[in-house]
Amino acid sequence: MSSILESEQKCATGLDALLFENRYARLPAPFFRAAVPHPLVGAHMASFNVELGALLGLTAEAAFQRAFVDQLTGVSELPAAQPVAMAYAGHQFGHFVPQLGDGRALLLGQVRDKQQQLWDLHLKGSGSTHFSRGSDGRAVLRSSIREYLCSEAMFGLGIPTTRALCLIASREQVYRERAEPGAMLLRMAQSHIRFGSFEFFYHRGDYDNLRRLGRYLLEGEFLHLRDTPAPYLALFGEVVTRTAKLIAQWQGVGFCHGVMNSDNMSILGLTLDYGPFAFLDVYEKGHICNHSDHQGRYAFQNQPEMAHFDLACLATAMLPLIDDDNEAAVTLMREQLAQYWPQFNATYRSIARSKLGLMECEKGDLELWQQLLELMDEQVDYTRFFRALGAVPSSTSSTQGTHHPQRNEFSDPLGFDLWMYEYRQRLQREGRSDEARRTAMALVNPKYILRNYMAETAIRAAEECGDYSEVDRLLSLLRNPFCEQPEMAHYAASPPLWAKALQLSCSS
Ligand code: AMP
Ligand code: MG
Repeated sequence: MSSILESEQKCATGLDALLFENRYARLPAPFFRAAVPHPLVGAHMASFNVELGALLGLTAEAAFQRAFVDQLTGVSELPAAQPVAMAYAGHQFGHFVPQLGDGRALLLGQVRDKQQQLWDLHLKGSGSTHFSRGSDGRAVLRSSIREYLCSEAMFGLGIPTTRALCLIASREQVYRERAEPGAMLLRMAQSHIRFGSFEFFYHRGDYDNLRRLGRYLLEGEFLHLRDTPAPYLALFGEVVTRTAKLIAQWQGVGFCHGVMNSDNMSILGLTLDYGPFAFLDVYEKGHICNHSDHQGRYAFQNQPEMAHFDLACLATAMLPLIDDDNEAAVTLMREQLAQYWPQFNATYRSIARSKLGLMECEKGDLELWQQLLELMDEQVDYTRFFRALGAVPSSTSSTQGTHHPQRNEFSDPLGFDLWMYEYRQRLQREGRSDEARRTAMALVNPKYILRNYMAETAIRAAEECGDYSEVDRLLSLLRNPFCEQPEMAHYAASPPLWAKALQLSCSS
């Protein structure tokens, strides 16, 4: 009798029907440590990402069943899964740490979706592992909600990112600055390999496994490079390109990651490891979202430079794969790394041009963009400004549009009128109607971003009342950040004053 019940439960969850193909766990021992999730007291499904679940053939109905949560969180077995904690190293705030690794997460296994795409199922907050270095291996509900929402917000914005299948809440207390409820997040990506995964083997002098890691990628996500004449060089070149584009997209949308250590940099160029991140409210080039980052190493304007630093760490770690002659290898990798700035600049400029609604390239466009950012600095809400800019007509019926205004310290203390005059002049040289420009701008300037106060509101409802409806509402809102969604318009308003007092740290 009980076996009939059990098999009914299994059919219902769908997890057993997943096609597990644990490629990573077939690598040799130093790549990981086998581990199992440690269940959380009172674990329950708080939110399920129906859209992502559908990719794997998982339904919300199944996900909210006890058996689903039990199988994911280690209460009962998930037979085909082969959970491991991945090993990696990394440069943290510029200093090399030889062993980090999944201290509070597990790669449960890898599964094929309906399109035959292989996904890592990665469980964050699953308890301590070999790599926990004395910490509890847990994640708090607060930061799990933030990651759950932000990774899907980034996806909605078209920015490469890990994704999140579901959020599991619990009654278990986790101690940070205070006691907080623990949670788990099931995140998904084609791979969770980091720059620091290469650094792990390089700094141990384990070049066989370094090569194995490279081969693992060439036979997976970078298969298209496998048969090229210098595949590892090409692989690094592609990581440079993907990273340059990713960071340009972050800068374009006003996203501040907060902890761009090389262990948090994805080899696939995904946004990875959401910690004290923030979207800018008011534009502030020097914004530091992580209040533990006392030097401002990862301030908003430093992000492009910090990604270059991380890529240099990766280049060093890959040298033994490039050429037996170290000097020759260095020269080759330098050439690849040198592509970073041109690629970053090209993407960033094209993003800037489309944010301004410009189709053609003109010589002064970059200056126009930079002047605007100078004017906006610490003055103007970044997202709201660009969304509103689409509605600005290219000419005015008043004399304002035709006469060059003089800078007036009293009526235009910041110089915005002057900038707007130049901008309109520039728009008039474009062969596009205002209507067409407005439509195009609304596709690149989001109406909705995940502001800190929005995440905070969802967190408070979840922590205080076990109410996850705001999490679900935001998830659905942020999936379509460029759509008007009139009934949600209040989320596009200026943030409330209390939002300024929110502080974020690494402790999550
Ligand atoms: P992060 O700052 O989240 O990128 O984490 C840096 C390193 O610390 C990684 O190796 C994490 O797995 C580990 N870590 C962070 N928080 C915890 C925790 N609560 N328990 C165990 N390890 C942790
Ligand atoms: Mg990390």
